[in-house]
Amino acid sequence: MYLKRLEIKGFKSFPTKTEIVFNEGITAIVGPNGSGKSNISDAVRWVLGEQSAKSLRGDKLEDVIFVGTETKRPMNYCEVAITLDNSDNKLDLGFSEITIKRRAYRTGESEFFLNNKSCRLKDIKEILLDTGIGKDGYSIVEQGKVDEILSNNPVNRRKVFDEACGISKFRYKKQEAERN
Ligand code: ATP
Ligand code: MG
Repeated sequence: MYLKRLEIKGFKSFPTKTEIVFNEGITAIVGPNGSGKSNISDAVRWVLGEQSAKSLRGDKLEDVIFVGTETKRPMNYCEVAITLDNSDNKLDLGFSEITIKRRAYRTGESEFFLNNKSCRLKDIKEILLDTGIGKDGYSIVEQGKVDEILSNNPVNRRKVFDEACGISKFRYKKQEAERN
């Protein structure tokens, strides 16, 4: 399974629909300061459910929506879609491609879609358990993350190993069963 495509529209510095296609292997995103490299990784975390404005480098959640420039009007919504190649069927959903989409409006509502069908953020989180993919998954190693893992207390550090070993799903199911 690998990240195949990212589509961004109205998110931060991307007012017009922008499609980034990734191939298997190594891809590097390079560009001058302020050109939007970090906005791309913010878009990946946002579509996977990031709800913290601070970790998206803003004050309010609506700060992710394009604010406009001298020549371009502000947008009133933004949309990011991430497509994962699932031809190895690692996610047992019967699809060779999985697209997760999030749309948000200035009014604060967020909608999520899985292969274009409306769903809850909870559904997306459940599907991605034990894959390492997610807003806090180890597939995203941001600045300070390695230090954080090393200096974490043992209980929190163990969560990283649980996810890598495929135990998170069972721990989650047990918690859900105990709650119901
Ligand atoms: P560096 O090399 O310095 O890390 P970068 O390529 O990572 O730079 P980003 O932080 O991704 O750059 O992009 C910053 C730019 O995005 C700034 O010019 C900022 O004005 C713009 N930006 C952020 N949020 C919005 C928004 N909501 N609407 C329009 N532009 C935005
Ligand atoms: Mg940056």
